[in-house]
Amino acid sequence: QDVISDAASFRELMVSDALVASLAAAGFERPSPVQKAAIPLGRVGTDLIVQAKSGTGKTVVFAVIILERVKAESSSTQALVLAPTREVAIQSEAVIRALAAELPAPAPVSAVFVGGLPMVDDEKKLRRLCHIAVGTPGRVGALLGAGRLTGSTVSLLVLDEADALLGESFYEDVTWIYDQLPKRKQVVAFSATFTPELLSDLEPLMRRPQRVLLCGGERGAGLLGVRQFYGLVGPQQAQQAQHGSGEGGPEAGQEEDGEAPGGGAAAVGVAGAGGASSSAVFRCKVARLLELLAGASFHQAAVFLNNKPRAEWLAEALTRAGFPAAYLSGDRAQTERMAAMEAVRGFKLRIVVSTDVMARGVDLDRVNLVVNLDLPGDAATYCHRVGRTGRFGSRGVCVSYVTRDELAVLVSYVDEQATAARAAAAAAAAANAD
Ligand code: ADP
Ligand code: MG
Repeated sequence: QDVISDAASFRELMVSDALVASLAAAGFERPSPVQKAAIPLGRVGTDLIVQAKSGTGKTVVFAVIILERVKAESSSTQALVLAPTREVAIQSEAVIRALAAELPAPAPVSAVFVGGLPMVDDEKKLRRLCHIAVGTPGRVGALLGAGRLTGSTVSLLVLDEADALLGESFYEDVTWIYDQLPKRKQVVAFSATFTPELLSDLEPLMRRPQRVLLCGGERGAGLLGVRQFYGLVGPQQAQQAQHGSGEGGPEAGQEEDGEAPGGGAAAVGVAGAGGASSSAVFRCKVARLLELLAGASFHQAAVFLNNKPRAEWLAEALTRAGFPAAYLSGDRAQTERMAAMEAVRGFKLRIVVSTDVMARGVDLDRVNLVVNLDLPGDAATYCHRVGRTGRFGSRGVCVSYVTRDELAVLVSYVDEQATAARAAAAAAAAANAD
């Protein structure tokens, strides 16, 4: 069957004239491949599993499906979108809201429900009108449990970043929420990274789902437009080379004199991924980062660490060094998180230092440099971090500063993503041949 249409416009995807106009007003003139493939299927009401690279426009897919479905004449909550982080929920609701704002009255009303903000405000929104609820599992679950949010009228459930929602930390909340909704509902799930487990985790939540799998491609992480580099730190090892190509880069010559990382570096390599560097290695990486920021031309940069106190320290240190930086992490107050995101979106700052709360889904279209000072704990998270740049066909660069031991981990991540991308391509070919 025809999973991928050749439509060149949203109108050809049978999107209503009113929504085509609001898409155009928002700057969305032509559908991206994932939008072409998934919108028609989603509109006819089938359950859907959508996998497509970071930054390819998955939000608009569910925004369109929702806005075409919701009946604004009714006062009930008809669609629920779940996202694993508050930032992603807030951002997705903003997209839905912007598109809804251009629709003729009565236009559907959306609202966002996330932790860290007063529940009384949520209750106010729900007493007024909320056709489309967007939120994180914890808060949405709490509102459903308290009887503030009505699940029985929801006919469309969207799982954004579905692999995270079905991961350890959210699985119970998400399946509980799922059970509060009517049996007959459309479930649409999105993910950028391919894990074979994801499909089997999703199947029990869906009825004969269609799959739209667009993660083919050979390169690690399957990201278009992002060149991935590493910088080696440690004694006599400071050099740069591009992944895969094997070509040596310019000699950076930044060595940690005296305090050789030694055993510390080895420990980092073994604990490796997920851990933070030893302090000597960390200082060396910070020096390299400062050099990079001073020498590279970039619009905005996202810097990732695994350790919150260090991330906070780094944001302050960068600011003092003349690179005003925001610090974003899960342990900050929600109002501070929102202020940080706004400062970055408003281009008041050019650098955001974060732990993994920002790794997924966050769409900052001016970020063209991603730096890993610590490697993440797994290949998928590496891929998500890289995906903070190269949004919607733009170009970006990712630099990971690693010790020799960490380099082996980095290479394994890139290999793993390449293997996963090939598996996804094969699965897509098989699904399309059905
Ligand atoms: P994903 O969820 O796939 O990672 P997003 O939905 O966050 O990607 O979209 C990435 C960027 O692409 C956003 O800045 C969005 O505004 C832009 N975008 C999405 N669809 C279109 C389109 N059809 N035309 C132009 N820009 C688009
Ligand atoms: Mg997304």
